Amino acid sequence: MKVLILGGTGEARALAAALVEDGVDVVSSLAGRVSQPALPAGAVRLGGFSDDTRDGAAGLAAYVAEQGISRVVDATHPFAAQISANAAAAAAAAGFPLLRLQRPGWQEHPRAGELVWVPDVERARERAERSGIRPFLTTGRQQLETFAPWDDRYVLARVVDPPDWAVPSSWEVLRARGPYTYAAERALMESRRVDVVVTKDSGGPLTAAKLDAALDLGLTVVVVRRPDPPSGVATCQDLDAAVLWIRGITEGKVTSPRDGAAS
Ligand code: NAP
Repeated sequence: MKVLILGGTGEARALAAALVEDGVDVVSSLAGRVSQPALPAGAVRLGGFSDDTRDGAAGLAAYVAEQGISRVVDATHPFAAQISANAAAAAAAAGFPLLRLQRPGWQEHPRAGELVWVPDVERARERAERSGIRPFLTTGRQQLETFAPWDDRYVLARVVDPPDWAVPSSWEVLRARGPYTYAAERALMESRRVDVVVTKDSGGPLTAAKLDAALDLGLTVVVVRRPDPPSGVATCQDLDAAVLWIRGITEGKVTSPRDGAAS
């Protein structure tokens, strides 16, 4: 059996490690966005599936067929909506088994009710403007330019790779990759005297410390909701369920694409 993991996340790397350990032939696909990606165990391919002759969904379907891949796990980031849509379209057209592995979001965080939820990054900027003047942005490099109008104030922006545009000189760009501890997050926010935090509902434990730190400091935390997942795809939230699905066992932890019920 050969498994393709669409990756770029910690859970994708954990799944690749577990499968390699089990002796499964696995290839992980990375978009090639960051300069020094954390590489998973097993084989790795880099870059999108589209080319001059076909779109990403058709390219992915062709890759799956050419490589003799029997199962695909979409373990990409909750905000990587295009690749997830491509995977769903390719699976529907070509008929290969596809599982969406997606970590729980912060809607399930014990203090979710204290967070300010907005539908997109533009609304996050508008909402944050009403709550503070020294923002801390952790929305990722790709959407940082949405905040470019904030060229008249201090902004703390945390990113993995540096922005590819000239950020305002009043900004501080902090390059870092999680996980982050509560103590370090709190110390960072206090030392920079930030008064509002803007983030995305990435979910998971590795970056959740900032929520508690910010709320404990009395800051407003503006959270961008996740895009809707593609319909018609089996989903699970944890590694064990994904490993069982790859072995052909679902045991109630994988949500069926047909009726939304556990299968
Ligand atoms: P996206 O908007 O959903 O995808 C844009 C295009 O990038 C896709 O159409 C596809 O190109 C290519 N692509 C994306 N992920 C790929 C993968 N794993 N393997 C091969 N090609 C891929 O994705 P994005 O938001 O730019 O994210 C890119 C990658 O970074 C993802 O793999 C994701 O897991 C990771 N990541 C994203 C975020 C985030 O906040 N968006 C955060 C952390 C990590 P083709 O159409 O040519 O196939």
